Parts: sequence; structure tokens; C-alpha cells
Amino acid sequence: MCGVIGVRGASRNTEASILAYLGSYAQQHRGQESAGIVSSNGEQVYEEVGMGRVNDFFTKERLARLPGHLAIGHNRYATTGASEEKNAQPLLIDCMHGRVALAHNGNLVNTEQIRDELVRSGVLFKTTTDTEIILQLMARSCAGDLTSCLTDALKQVEGAYSLIVMSAREMIAVRDPRGFRPLCLGRLPDGGHVFVSETCALDLIEAEYVRDILPGEMVSLRVDGIQSFFPFETQTHRPCLFELIYFSRPDSMVFNHSVYVIRKAFGRQLAREAPVFADVVVPVPDSGVPAALGYSEESGIPFELGLTRNHYVGRTFIEPVQTIRHFGVKVKHNPVRSVFAGKRVVVVDDSIVRGTTSKKLVEMARRAGAREVHMRISSPPPREPCLYGIDTPTREGYIANRFTIEEIRRYIDADSLQYLSYDGMLAIAQSTPQTYCTTCWTGKHPMPIHNLSP
Ligand code: AMP
Repeated sequence: MCGVIGVRGASRNTEASILAYLGSYAQQHRGQESAGIVSSNGEQVYEEVGMGRVNDFFTKERLARLPGHLAIGHNRYATTGASEEKNAQPLLIDCMHGRVALAHNGNLVNTEQIRDELVRSGVLFKTTTDTEIILQLMARSCAGDLTSCLTDALKQVEGAYSLIVMSAREMIAVRDPRGFRPLCLGRLPDGGHVFVSETCALDLIEAEYVRDILPGEMVSLRVDGIQSFFPFETQTHRPCLFELIYFSRPDSMVFNHSVYVIRKAFGRQLAREAPVFADVVVPVPDSGVPAALGYSEESGIPFELGLTRNHYVGRTFIEPVQTIRHFGVKVKHNPVRSVFAGKRVVVVDDSIVRGTTSKKLVEMARRAGAREVHMRISSPPPREPCLYGIDTPTREGYIANRFTIEEIRRYIDADSLQYLSYDGMLAIAQSTPQTYCTTCWTGKHPMPIHNLSP
């Protein structure tokens, strides 16, 4: 779970690091543990990387230390390697191509063996991330220019990567051959170019969407223009369907879908599959809002914003000594009592993972006076940990691996509980002729897994 951005201004006056900062801010939902930007003025490479959210870490002073018309940015949510400063990205190394920085979204699945071999041959690792393996392999490659060395490194790894690499003069974006994570190309108002994880980042910096980087494509931005290559063996495309269900921002276009439109369509399908007599449809904000709108439109049951979300929730809280029951959920959500009082309520969320949120929200709805609470979920129950870059629990952590649906209903204390069916979800998602990675629901991996631990 990470966001990446790469900016190459057309003129030396472009404030690339400011644009990378703003784009990373728009992509904050993709990772809130660390933030970083590496910039270049064509000669020197500058770095500011640290812990915290984009807006907290980057001060005016820090951004002033990142001059140049080239910049790459990263915000991270740890999926491999601990959440600590040494693992924050972009990672930077000195090699025969000069200072080279890399920002990675995704997760590799064959790194344990490669790392072992590299360590045995004397390579010293600075971090515990899988991303550094790409840099180390690239630094050891004798393939020639930066693009060739990067290709050489990537041919040795398997897994999910949407990544951006930058040297003092060059910027390269690559998407793995299965295309798990999104990555797209935009044009800056000054004629320069930008790579972003999600199009919502383009909107903020007034860049125009050009196109998605295709699975298996490598795009290089150089002084002499844009070059595109397809250096890898072709694979069946496997964009992550969970990006469309939960992870991406609804105002983004991801895998050629409006995330908002497809989430509403999931909600409509859910209403067709799992109707209920009720007075009001209430979304779990923010993730359940588009699906709840779809459910409401399809069922004709009025939509109400019955749960309010506090958007300023940080990582830790000072709790009173006498513990407040369900503090974690209460601090995030609070009911609008008049919406619930005496009503039969359909509460719509995008997913149930451990079951904690639903359980607490059902209790909240009842305490606010709901007569009946029907939980509707706009994706099927996930059961398998994601190895491709989404932070998920272990197999036992998923409530659906411990309980039947009826047991989950009883556990969360809902009057009824229904999920969108797997086939229903695919019917909506495959409205364009492509396949998806659905491993978190099916357990079927699109490639052999060599790592022993996720
Ligand atoms: P849980 O309380 O564990 O059942 O989590 C369900 C809630 O977390 C839902 O409101 C989802 O929108 C949200 N969610 C789903 N997947 C994730 C994820 N990988 N990381 C964080 N939150 C998630």
C-alpha cells in the first residue's frame, strides 16, 4: 500500500519537488507511515525522506532543499519491512549510473532467496524492504545504460511493482507484466510529464491524463523525449480488484474505470442480490459511500449520511485511564441519532476483514435507536493474505476463515448480513475485457510463490 509519483518538468524552472509533494498529498490514502522526495536539477540529486504524513513531514524548509525540475515521491504503508525510517522511500544508492533513487508500490514474492544469495556474496543491505533488492540487482548489473540495468534486475524478480526510478537526468517508470498496481502518465501544463499511482494526483497539479502505463511497459523520460519498451515476457494481466473495491480514491480513474462509478455499480448489484425491507440506507464513511448510493438507487430506499466520520484520526490517542468501550471505532465514527431512531437500517460497507468495524457499528446503530440493522457488504468475504502490496491480516485474522456467514452475522449482532457474490462482483468488474487478481477471495495465486513468509 503505497503511492508513487515522478515529475519531469519541461523547463528548468519547474518546481518538481512541490508538484511531487502535492501529488503525494493527493495519494496520502495509499500510505501514511512515511513520505519522501528525491529531486534533481540535472546534475545533483537531493533527498528528503522521513516518517509521518506528507503534510507533516514536508515543511517549506524541507521542500526548499529539493531543487530541480526532476523529482520522485513516495508515501508508504509497510507491507514488507518494518515501519521505520530506514525503510522509508524513495531509496537512494550510489552506483555506476551516479545517484539513483527508486520509489516502489507493490510487493515482490521471490526475494528471500535472492536476498540470501546477495548477502552471501557480500552485499550489505541498508533496509529490510524488498525494494532494495531491485536496487542492489540493478547496481550489480553490467547490462549497460540505466534502462538496461533496471530491466536486467526486474527480470530476476517476481511479483507486483509499479515503480519509478530516477537518476540525475533520467526518469523511468515500470509496471510489472501482470500490472497488479496502477500507474499512469500525465502531461504537465508546461509540457513536461508526470507518472502517478492514481489520477486524483494529476487533478491537483493540473496535469492532463495521457494514458495508463501498460502492464509490462517501461517508459523512459529523457531530454530527447519519451521512449516506451516492453522488455519482459508477456503475462496474463492481473490488476488488483481490491483497488476498485476499497483501496483507490473514488475520484480516480484506475485500470480505465471510474472508481466511483464501479463502486456504485457494485452497490446496485448488491441491492439486486441481497434486497431487504428497510427505511434507510446508511454508508460506512468513507469507503462504503458510493456502494451505498448504488444500493439506495437500485432499491429505492432513501440514502442518509447516518454515520459521521472524524477525518483527523491519527495513529495513536491518549485514552482516559478508565477505558472507553470501543474507543477505536467511536473516535472515528459517530451516529446521527435521528437517522437511526426507530428505523430499519441497511448499513453498507465495502468489506469485512477482521469484523471489528462492523461489530462496533452495528452496536452503535442499535444504541442510536435502530429497530433493525441489516449489514450489506459490496465485496465477497476475503480469506487469503495479499502478497502483492495490500496490507492484510494473516489467514486466521480474516473473520471469514474462522466463522460461517451466519456466525459472522451473530458475532456482529446484525439482523441480517449479506455480501456481494463473487460472480456478481466479477460480472460488474469485467465489463471491460480484462481479468483481475482476485487472490484475496479465491486463494489462487497468479504466479508461483517462492517466499516462505508473506
Ligand atoms: P475490519 O474492521 O477488520 O473488518 O475492517 C473493515 C473495514 O476496514 C472496512 O470499513 C474497510 O473499508 C476497511 N478496510 C478494508 N481493507 C482494508 C485494509 N487492507 N486496510 C485497512 N482498512 C481496510
